[in-house]
Amino acid sequence: MNNSLEFLCPFCNESHEIQVLNKPTQALINGMAVQYEETTYYCEKEQEFFVPKAILKNNLLAARDAYRMQNGLLTSQEIKDARNQYGLTQKEFALLLGWGEVTIQRYETKLIQDETFDQKIKNVKDNPKLALEELEKHKDKFENIIRYNEIKKIISSLIKTKSISYLNKQIIESYYIDFREKSELNGFKELDLEKVIDMISFFAMKSSRLYKVKLMKLLWYSDMLFFKKNKQSMSGLVYEHLPFGAVPLAHEEILKYASKCIDITSEEFDNGAIGYKITPKEYGNLKLESGEIEILTKVIEKLGKFGSKEISDYMHDEEAYKQTDDNDIIPYVFAEKIDGFNIS
Ligand SMILES: [Zn+2]
Repeated sequence: MNNSLEFLCPFCNESHEIQVLNKPTQALINGMAVQYEETTYYCEKEQEFFVPKAILKNNLLAARDAYRMQNGLLTSQEIKDARNQYGLTQKEFALLLGWGEVTIQRYETKLIQDETFDQKIKNVKDNPKLALEELEKHKDKFENIIRYNEIKKIISSLIKTKSISYLNKQIIESYYIDFREKSELNGFKELDLEKVIDMISFFAMKSSRLYKVKLMKLLWYSDMLFFKKNKQSMSGLVYEHLPFGAVPLAHEEILKYASKCIDITSEEFDNGAIGYKITPKEYGNLKLESGEIEILTKVIEKLGKFGSKEISDYMHDEEAYKQTDDNDIIPYVFAEKIDGFNIS
């Protein structure tokens, strides 16, 4: 997307409207070609391009982050997030990990971390218990004992809230341990749990009457249709054929894990049945891409108004369901047979 702003133009030596251009660019980093978006400024009067110093810095950061993403490394922002959840300064985070005090500052601004360092940050990011162990191990590096105790308190309280979520994640991953390799069972994608959470949040925000069983089917149709279009599933979820439809493996644990962004309340119907209603905790920003949002929107447009029973009946007519038996994994190849969603 391009736009414009008032800027002190170095060619005209005066402040005037400058075009801001974002264009896809390729760079070579550590011998690897990476794609990223580069920002350039343009003066129409002189018909000249230029890049202000601060923007140049952002461009370099964008290139390095593209490299990181391509290599499964944490981006500079993710490193910052890991640090911020514990309320640490860059120096404190580095000391906690037993590293030189400018290490984290470098990772957040310029240097690409190697895999060993990356793994250590990831461990500490996901598991505050490990953060506490690291902190205690490197206690002597902290000169200010009051601050040390403060940090210890923050991490300890996070252990209580995050450990449950961490354990849940471990359980989910253990269910998926045999489905790590890309195959037609996971739609040629390894499980992306954060994507699943975003998909659930999306449906919770868009649907005023969302119940558990219905959600499972919305997920299934989204993954299937995304696969049909892109030859890859959206989430990497593996779906089982159960009597009431297609259901992702570890769906109970996944719903528990999603409790950071949705509420599930039980609701009694007139006939005495109990439904589990799903509502969003907050309308946050989701990390979904436009191609993903397109599919999710089509699914909610088509199935959003269906009740749980109607959507079950609808699904039972799918070849994917008719040609598999109870407890079978439903392969994504059946996606070809799904029609009626108007997806080009
Ligand atoms: Zn100018």
